[in-house]
Amino acid sequence: MSSDVKFHHRQNNFGGHDSICTACLVTVACVEDESEFAYRESQHVCDSINLYWASQDRLSVLVADEEAAAHSLSAVKLSRPS
Ligand SMILES: [Zn+2]
Repeated sequence: MSSDVKFHHRQNNFGGHDSICTACLVTVACVEDESEFAYRESQHVCDSINLYWASQDRLSVLVADEEAAAHSLSAVKLSRPS
């Protein structure tokens, strides 16, 4: 797999943690213990179809990134089609 793939970690609504691939935007793991991320992420390979959709929807990365969202609420509104 590509070694330059990065993952965004965030707390989910169920008290656990999600790991989202920043390249293809797929949630690669939903775990209770963040120590499980390393294995799941090491097994992840981006699907070319998901990479395509991610390239078409780059703004959703900002929505997934809670820090970015906190700094720019207007960007969140713009990137969420109604
Ligand atoms: Zn990926």
